[in-house]
Amino acid sequence: MTDLDAFRSDTRAWLEANCPPEMRQSMRGEKDLCWGGRNWTFQSDAQRQWLEVMAERGWTVPDWPKDYGGGGLSAEETRVLKQEMARIGARPPLTSFGISMLGPALLKFGTEEQKKHYLPQIARGEIRWCQGYSEPGAGSDLAGLQTKAEDKGDHWLVNGQKVWTSYADKADWIFCLVRTSTESKHQGISFVLFDMATPGVSTKPILLISGSSPFCETFFDDVKVPKDQVVGEVNRGWDVAKYLLGHEREMIAGMGLGGTDGTLGSLLKPDDPFLRAEVAAFDVDALAFAAMSERFFEMFKAGEAHPASPSMMKYAGTELNKRRHELVMAAGGSDALEWDSERSSEGKAARDWLRTKANSIEGGTSEIQLNIVAKHILGLPGA
Ligand SMILES: Cc1cc2nc3c(=O)[nH]c(=O)nc-3n(C[C@H](O)[C@H](O)[C@H](O)COP(=O)(O)OP(=O)(O)OC[C@H]3O[C@@H](n4cnc5c(N)ncnc54)[C@H](O)[C@@H]3O)c2cc1C
Repeated sequence: MTDLDAFRSDTRAWLEANCPPEMRQSMRGEKDLCWGGRNWTFQSDAQRQWLEVMAERGWTVPDWPKDYGGGGLSAEETRVLKQEMARIGARPPLTSFGISMLGPALLKFGTEEQKKHYLPQIARGEIRWCQGYSEPGAGSDLAGLQTKAEDKGDHWLVNGQKVWTSYADKADWIFCLVRTSTESKHQGISFVLFDMATPGVSTKPILLISGSSPFCETFFDDVKVPKDQVVGEVNRGWDVAKYLLGHEREMIAGMGLGGTDGTLGSLLKPDDPFLRAEVAAFDVDALAFAAMSERFFEMFKAGEAHPASPSMMKYAGTELNKRRHELVMAAGGSDALEWDSERSSEGKAARDWLRTKANSIEGGTSEIQLNIVAKHILGLPGA
C-alpha cells in the first residue's frame, strides 16, 4: 500500500466517523452554507460540529501550513480529501472570502505576525471578511479608486465609499483598497485590513432583482486604521490586489462545475427533442470544462498556471453556469417562474437563475476577462 493509499483509507474512516449525516445531504442553496464569523448563527448542531472537527484537523484549509491553522497536506493528499468528501456528499464545512481570497494573499504578501494573527482565525471561521474593492467610479477600471487613506503618524485616516461590497453588513472585517498617493494611478494604492466595527464604518444593503440583498454600499467616514494593518508595501497594494483577484476568479470559475448533482440531462430529462439536444450539448461542454478545471486548479495551486488563466476559466465557468440555469428554466416552462409558492421552494429555480446574471459581472466582467485573455494569452494588441 502506498502512503497515499494509506492516507485515503485513514481519511475515509475519519470522515465516516466524524461527518454528521445531516452534513452529507445535498445543499438546498445559499442558506446551507456556513460562513462563520462573530455573529454567525449555526443552522444546526451538526453544522457547528462539522466546522469544529474539520477546523481542529486544519481541514477547512487542508493545503495551508499547519503553523497557520491549515492541515499541511500535499496537493495529492488535498485531492484525495476532496474526493473522499465528494464520495459521501460531505458539505464544505466553511465558506469564506478569508479562505478563498484573503488567505492566499496573506500567505504571499503578509508579514509573519500578520500570518500568525489572521490565518488561524480564518481557518477556524472566527472572522468573516468582506472585500472593499469597487467604488461608484471604479469597477472595471479598479485602479481609478478614490477612497483615500491619509497618513496621520500612528494611523491611517480613511474616507470614501465602496459599492457592491458582498455581505458587508454581515462581515466582521474588510480587506480594502485605498489611495495613499495620487502621484501614480497604480502605484498609489495600498491594501489595508480593518474591523467593520471601527467607528466611522457604515453599510447600506442594496436590493437585487432576485429579492435578496447580498451586497451593500459601504461608507468610511474618518475611519482610523492602525499602521500595522497594511498588507505588503504602502503604495504597492495593486500587486496584492491583482494576486487576490486571480484567486477570486479561480473561486468563481468553480461555478462552472455546477455542484455534485450529476449531469444536467439526468436532472432535467426534457421531452422536447430540441431542448434535449441543447442539454446534451451543455453536458458535453460541462465535461470538457470539468476536465480542463482539474488541470487548471492543480497548476494554479502549484503556481504554474499562466497569470491570465484565472480570467479564461472565470469567463468559461460563469458563462457555462448561466447557460445551465437558462436550460433549467426552459425545461421548467412557466412553472419555473413561480416565485413564492412552497411547491417551488419559494421560487428557488427562478431566484437562482436571476442570481446567475451577476456571475459574468462579479469578480470582473466577461468583457474584461476576454480583454485579458486577448492581450496576455493570445498576444493580440492591447485592449
Ligand atoms: C454579485 C456581485 C457581487 C460583487 N461583490 C463585490 C465585492 O464583494 N466587493 C467588491 O469590491 N466588488 C464587488 N462586486 C463588484 C464587481 O467587481 C464590479 O461590478 C465589476 O468589477 C464591474 O464593475 P462595474 O459594476 O463598475 O461596471 P463597469 O466597469 O462600469 O462596466 C460596465 C460595462 O462596461 C463594460 N466595460 C467596462 N470597461 C470595459 C473595457 N475596457 N472593455 C470592454 N468592456 C468594458 C463592462 O464589461 C460592463 O459590461 C460585485 C458585483 C456583483 C455583481
